[in-house]
Amino acid sequence: MELTHPLVLDGWFKEISDEYFPGQAFSLRVEKILYAKKSKFQDVLLFKSTDFGNVLVLDGVIQCTERDEFSYQEMITHVAMFAHGNPKRVLVIGGGDGGVLREAVKHPSLERATLVEIDDMVIKLSKKYLPKMAGSYQNEKVNVVLGDGFKFLKDCASKDDAQKYDVIITDSSDPEGPAEAFFQKDYFTLLYNALTPRGIVISMASENIWLDINKLRDLRKTAAEVFPVAKISNCTIPTYTSGQISLLCCARDANIDVSIPSRTLPRDEEIKLFRYYNSRIHESSFILPTWADQIIYHS
Ligand code: SAM
Repeated sequence: MELTHPLVLDGWFKEISDEYFPGQAFSLRVEKILYAKKSKFQDVLLFKSTDFGNVLVLDGVIQCTERDEFSYQEMITHVAMFAHGNPKRVLVIGGGDGGVLREAVKHPSLERATLVEIDDMVIKLSKKYLPKMAGSYQNEKVNVVLGDGFKFLKDCASKDDAQKYDVIITDSSDPEGPAEAFFQKDYFTLLYNALTPRGIVISMASENIWLDINKLRDLRKTAAEVFPVAKISNCTIPTYTSGQISLLCCARDANIDVSIPSRTLPRDEEIKLFRYYNSRIHESSFILPTWADQIIYHS
């Protein structure tokens, strides 16, 4: 029997949300619905699109498409990992599609990458339908924990310094579902306490300068109440609303400028390893248009 989903009508998937700019929506043409069910935590839809490869949608919001996922996965991973320069222990909160793990294992300094994902279904489906993202689950440096990332970090508070992380990447879904806690001050405090002294965190901001810039400003301000360094980086990606997503990058050490990579690679190595990230885009991703810079950093 052919699968159906309420957000797929007349062969098009429609992403519509009150959170987005009024009067704006995003659509992709559907070739075939591959999976459509509610998991214990969220509504899960996976479809084959006509032009963007397979697409994962959670609670009605596109999480990744095979065509453009590399831009977001590379930026959220490498901006943090190159800002640090020598990350050995990395924690990924969310990220069940496996794309961040695929990028993290490209760093020779990495000893252990722990991924904490709440929804086993996302991991299972990604292994089946998004194999180019989920390939690194086999890597011996990767450790998967099934559970709530917020609770995992709370439990980290009692651990000794050797258990802390050099980089923590929050690759979560939007705040309207199980990821709600990741956008609040308590979460930034937990992140701060789980980091090594020169540790870096980066989070999907679930916003960009064109959507609700005041919300983005407030999120950065909240992080800046905890971290001495809190900056916004931007990444272009056609299938996120308005074609871009902001990343919030923070450092525990006030002397670290997260917009400058601590380690850079020769250009030919960058070309071999990455399709989007390079050291110049690392720096330029932090430069905001004048109006956005005024609102984010001066209002
Ligand atoms: N790149 C995507 C985006 O920005 O839309 C995010 C992709 S990734 C699939 C998001 C993951 O975060 C989902 O698999 C979801 O299950 C997971 N997640 C949401 N809340 C979580 C929580 N409290 N703890 C751990 N993982 C969580």
